[in-house]
Amino acid sequence: MERRCARCGRKIKKNEVAYRVRIEIIGEFDGMELGEEEFDEVLEKIVEELEGLPSYLIEGDIYQLKEYILCPDCKDQFAANPLNLPLDMDIPHSIPPPEDE
Ligand SMILES: [Zn+2]
Repeated sequence: MERRCARCGRKIKKNEVAYRVRIEIIGEFDGMELGEEEFDEVLEKIVEELEGLPSYLIEGDIYQLKEYILCPDCKDQFAANPLNLPLDMDIPHSIPPPEDE
């Protein structure tokens, strides 16, 4: 079975280490994480409120599990900044040549 990196699309070679990234998104209401019982209860309420919307769309708002295979380079980049935050640094457009001593 061929494995490809979900981020860069590079083929992961046989015997090469790859990384499985699992992202679990869990709804939280008033600081309370939803257990299975509360989940059904809340889902029912929301479905009532949002009548007309398909339940799978609403369900995705409360719980999502995503899984990706990443190559080592992409794993490093993901792990360094998983929330894709803006980096607080100025990257120069060019590097000045070294000064002679
Ligand atoms: Zn990659």
